Amino acid sequence: VHQPHPLDLLNLDDHLTEGERAVRDSVRRLCDDLVEPHIAEWYENGQVAGVRELAVALGDLGLLGMHLEGYGCAGMSAVEYGLACLELEATDSGLRSLVSVQGSLAMYAIWKWANEETKRRWLPRMAGGHAIGCFGLTEPDHGSDPGSMRTRARRQGGDWVLDGTKTWITNGSVADVAVIWAVTDDGIRGFAVPTGTRGFCATEIKHKASLRASVTSALALDGVRVPDEFAFPDVRGLKGPLSCLNEARYGITWGAMGAARSCLRAALDYTCQREQFGRPLAAFQLTQRKLVEMNVEYAKGLLLAWHLGRRKDAGVLASAQVSLGKLNNVREALKICRTARTLLGANGVSLEYPVIRHASNLESVLTYEGTVEMHTLVLGQLMTGMPAFR
Ligand code: FAD
Repeated sequence: VHQPHPLDLLNLDDHLTEGERAVRDSVRRLCDDLVEPHIAEWYENGQVAGVRELAVALGDLGLLGMHLEGYGCAGMSAVEYGLACLELEATDSGLRSLVSVQGSLAMYAIWKWANEETKRRWLPRMAGGHAIGCFGLTEPDHGSDPGSMRTRARRQGGDWVLDGTKTWITNGSVADVAVIWAVTDDGIRGFAVPTGTRGFCATEIKHKASLRASVTSALALDGVRVPDEFAFPDVRGLKGPLSCLNEARYGITWGAMGAARSCLRAALDYTCQREQFGRPLAAFQLTQRKLVEMNVEYAKGLLLAWHLGRRKDAGVLASAQVSLGKLNNVREALKICRTARTLLGANGVSLEYPVIRHASNLESVLTYEGTVEMHTLVLGQLMTGMPAFR
């Protein structure tokens, strides 16, 4: 029996296949080469320089829609997709958000629900990073309760005309295609709307103190006319958007552990170096307790993500299990990052170190893709049979 690595207490690494390790290592290299040197600056400026080039680099490595089959997608396993999310988010939650929204929300929606022509039109370009997608569900007055959305699509001749407002839409201002969910006479339906269509306007949301290295936008749709082929033919109601959210939430279960790992590593390095009262901070019992508690939750979170991944690959992952993973792992990752922040003292609030950036990012991750409260209610309903959403 060999001693576990300090940041892999359960030797999970031993359980990954060679292919899984290769995916993880190639994503790590891309992050180290293209993003790590710039991420602190992008975050501070609230702007990702060269987001289109970055999307192409991610596409070249097969990371966009990577768990989808066909149409130029890489067709990788759920565990490989999860490991990629982990490495991306170990760099920054904004980077993982770019990939999640592209692959799990916009591309998945088109892959699963659009007609054949729309799939062929968008998916290969999106897989290559040459077209960027966004996913418009949330509205100013309807967040956790998207079923009450106001955005409407009406038939006019053979076309559809969309009117409404979406907000907090990741990639909105850089997107070439927006998946828009709207109410019709026949229930909620999805549409693949080219963002160049007349009446479509995206405005970047400024002044975020979280996820600053990610584009977030408000979308206004004012008489946006699209042909019937752009509507998703067979899905009605919240089932459509929820099927996509399930994919992204699964990725977040892994991704959050990446942010946690970066903070854990930063805290371990820092406390081993920094001396107070004549000894390294890491030599004090109170510090070791924090480090150990962080690491225990990290190990458990990773094990949970891995378990969900194996179930997903076996085709037996239930959405309530994804809720459990998203709820636990984002909550625990945020606690790990906040504890790391205390261990760095004043440097813990400086953007010279990655810790406050990760902690602030996870505040957004805690809210999007279903808040802790929503996932608690999902599990509460499963346990009691009693829905408590309203
Ligand atoms: P609200 O729904 O108003 O909730 C506020 C608080 O009330 C929360 O704590 C919530 O849990 C709680 N609450 C609500 N209902 C209940 C209840 N029944 N019982 C108990 N508590 C309740 N959306 C998209 O469609 N596409 C995107 O790409 C996207 N990207 C995002 C990026 C960022 C950076 C952020 C911050 C958000 C993004 N969102 C996106 C929106 C996100 O999904 C919503 O913010 C989220 O669903 C919560 O909605 P809300 O902000 O309106 O909060």
